[in-house]
Amino acid sequence: MRPAALLLLLAPAVAFAGAQTEPPTKRIGSVDYVNIEEEAARVGLRVERLGSQAILLKDGPQPVAKLTEHSRDMDIKGLRLFLGNPVNELGGAFFVSLADYRLRLLPRLRPALCLPRPPVPGIIAIDPGHGGNDHGAENHALGTMEKTYTLDVAVRLKGLLEAAGYKVVMTRDSDFDLPLALRAEVANRAGADLFVSIHFNSLYPNTKTTGAEVLTFPPPAQRSTDSWSMGGKNDSEPAAAPVNAFDPWNTVLAGAVHKRVLDALRDGDRGEKLAHLGVLRELKCPGILLESAIISSDKEAALLKTSEFREKIASAVCAGIGDYAEELSALRAAEPKPAPGQAPDAAPAAPRSAPTRPSAP
Ligand SMILES: [Zn+2]
Repeated sequence: MRPAALLLLLAPAVAFAGAQTEPPTKRIGSVDYVNIEEEAARVGLRVERLGSQAILLKDGPQPVAKLTEHSRDMDIKGLRLFLGNPVNELGGAFFVSLADYRLRLLPRLRPALCLPRPPVPGIIAIDPGHGGNDHGAENHALGTMEKTYTLDVAVRLKGLLEAAGYKVVMTRDSDFDLPLALRAEVANRAGADLFVSIHFNSLYPNTKTTGAEVLTFPPPAQRSTDSWSMGGKNDSEPAAAPVNAFDPWNTVLAGAVHKRVLDALRDGDRGEKLAHLGVLRELKCPGILLESAIISSDKEAALLKTSEFREKIASAVCAGIGDYAEELSALRAAEPKPAPGQAPDAAPAAPRSAPTRPSAP
């Protein structure tokens, strides 16, 4: 008997069923949707109505997700996340797009159902945003530049990751610019298992808003989060980019880093968003772009001048990467062992040498 089939017999209730069978879909507009109340139940989550316009998904007694009708803005385990399509209500039931269900919700609520799994990361690519003539965003009052801080945080992060046993590759290690696609190529050539691009946001003329956001590449047919704002154009792409092969794991990585950065900085949650970013498109591993603070904000620009704040960001990202690695290790440890002479079922490359667990910031 194939290991996967054995598991279907032995595992409690839902295991793997969600991943191996296509949920029934309903076309709403041009998008395939799933009945989230039925699908949640199928993977062992409880559903609670919050009035007529929202639902809460619970894992045992624990609320794990809140979805609101007509909204893409949701809460998942205390983190803000923007779905690629709005939640819909149809015939009294709540519907979530199939892509959002499989690539954003399941990876965070039932990661064991997301196959295949990438390797437990051993080689980390760090991309300090901008550089050289491209200064990135600037703080007008202080004259500080994004490119300086992205490199500073990246160098700190490199030190922390190496101390934890990871191999690190930097897309740039001094003040020069390089094209976005080349940054992904540096990671791909090094055989990186994970890619993180470090940036700082700017919201001029707003100088008050603070907070972090994490960006991932949209799945095919989904729009960038910003394209939904007034006057925005549908920028969805029909075909998958190389990085879309890792969509569930882009989501897991985004959540892990998002949580640690938010916990460390406590300066506001601007959410996990989708964007067609040239730096992520060609990646052959899971990747995210982190806007950890806002350089146009009076408060965060002042904080960024202190090495303590930049160190705090670096250790939070390091801890997030450690959480992601730990989650993948645990999932891989629970994989059924193939019978002698049998190839592993749906399991890609074996884990690389396991780095030690980075300590919490
Ligand atoms: Zn930037």
